[in-house]
Amino acid sequence: MSCKRVELLLPATVDNRLDGAQQREVDEHLAGCAACTADLDAMRDARVALATCGPAEPPAGLADRIARSVRLAQPDNTPASFWERFVPIAWPTALGASVAAIVLVAVMLTSGGEPTKTATETAPADPIEQVATAVNNANVQLASNVYGLDID
Ligand SMILES: [Zn+2]
Repeated sequence: MSCKRVELLLPATVDNRLDGAQQREVDEHLAGCAACTADLDAMRDARVALATCGPAEPPAGLADRIARSVRLAQPDNTPASFWERFVPIAWPTALGASVAAIVLVAVMLTSGGEPTKTATETAPADPIEQVATAVNNANVQLASNVYGLDID
């Protein structure tokens, strides 16, 4: 049996888990190999040392230090209030709707309140088209101001 093979079997040798045939082969090898015998002795010493030491105690304050580190490593995870969660989403929409409403009222006032009757050959563009254009422009401006988008 080679030293490599014995190295693989040494832990089982220490734990007395080898069957009879394997144990005899290991024993024959150990009888002629000082290096493997030294390894076996070191493993037995380590096993005894581990068996005699008690459970490890964590250093005082370790749990507090870990908890503090975890808190510091995480972003502020305090729950946002209803308005803090609602406003960032709602205000661009509300602004866009407000602009659209203002533009619609302005167009209706300048066209005499009857947008469907202003579509003549000499009149400016259809009020509905004016509103659509104004809303589109407002949305483009909003996208540019709020989201930094460049929409042509
Ligand atoms: Zn050996």
